[in-house]
Amino acid sequence: MDDKFKNKKFETRAIHSGQIPEDHTGAVTTPIHFSSTYRVDFPGDESGYVYSRWSNPTRVALEEALASLEEGEFAYAFSSGLSALTAVLHLLKAGDHIVAVDDLYGGTHRLFEKLMRKFGLDFTYVDGREPSNFEQAIKDNTRLFWIETPTNPLMKLADIEQIVPIAKKRGILTAVDNTFATPYIQQPLKLGADIVLHSASKYLGGHCDLIGGALVLNDEKLAEQVRFNQYAVGGMLGPFESWLILRGLKTLHLRMERHSVNSMKIVEYLETVSSVKKIYYPGQDGKQVPNKMKLPGGMVSFEIDADFETVKKFVMATTVFVLAESLGGVESLINHPASMTHSSIPKEMREPLGITDGLVRLSVGVEAIDDLLIDLRTAFAAIAGA
Ligand SMILES: *Cc1c(COP(=O)(O)O)cnc(C)c1O
Repeated sequence: MDDKFKNKKFETRAIHSGQIPEDHTGAVTTPIHFSSTYRVDFPGDESGYVYSRWSNPTRVALEEALASLEEGEFAYAFSSGLSALTAVLHLLKAGDHIVAVDDLYGGTHRLFEKLMRKFGLDFTYVDGREPSNFEQAIKDNTRLFWIETPTNPLMKLADIEQIVPIAKKRGILTAVDNTFATPYIQQPLKLGADIVLHSASKYLGGHCDLIGGALVLNDEKLAEQVRFNQYAVGGMLGPFESWLILRGLKTLHLRMERHSVNSMKIVEYLETVSSVKKIYYPGQDGKQVPNKMKLPGGMVSFEIDADFETVKKFVMATTVFVLAESLGGVESLINHPASMTHSSIPKEMREPLGITDGLVRLSVGVEAIDDLLIDLRTAFAAIAGA
């Protein structure tokens, strides 16, 4: 994409890429173009905008901004993260095989197993912390590696730079779900990945007020196929959500810095709590945070040494942390994966992975850290002696 801010720093691109003041009015803020259809100069004229499923000016502004932040050539904005994932899976055909990390976002696992298997796709799940696990899972029909790093909710890290060459050797595509890290923390295309996916519903939007997704790529042929899939299926993002994400992106770097500072302080506190059995945080499992990750981000999970009822009491005892699914907003959220975000993964599969009844996941917001710590202390006090 033609980004005249290409040589500027991330923080500048987040505010300006794709968002040059409009010619017609001089509007500094990108207008929301609600028109579904556009006047053409002659029958068959496709030189400009034609129909908003194919292309819309507000969406294009967002796509240019996203391409710029991930340092990719092409970006496409979708109606949700899962809609973006579907466009990736539509690159494949019946009989193809995918190797994916085992600690997947619950909705991704559901789409793979409950829908896509029915259309003849096959999936193998591996612990992504060890790159050779990907190699060992390869079959003759493997076409795609699916990576999440850090994973949700156990914050496992995969070394993208080491996995990509294993794929490239065999012509396998590598896709990375970069929702948790965001391009401010990690840029998978620069580490060799072919496709980056985002649920923009999380950090990119950043305010828990929209559902959206995106794909960013470098290869022109692959990008054309993805765009065709989006146009043919119709999973594109609407103009209002596109605008909201553009607004969110402008503060992404500020938010990620603060999310990370707050989450680090919360981890320090959790380490002092005796009923906390285990903390899941990038690098906490003894494996180093890959140096390609600039910050740990805002997600922290931990296991409380208590039964289901006690943990339920805990997650209901906070006031600043809101009991809710999702993540990545300025507001802090608390979640019980086993009964909420990951309830679609069968117990036999999630327990061995570590998604136990005692597991709690925090999406640490950008509130005052003192208030967040008091909130957690109060909740631990509520279950003390249970
Ligand atoms: C939320 C999420 C998704 C799905 O995105 P939606 O926008 O909810 O469709 C995919 N991957 C990860 C890591 C997520 O957190």
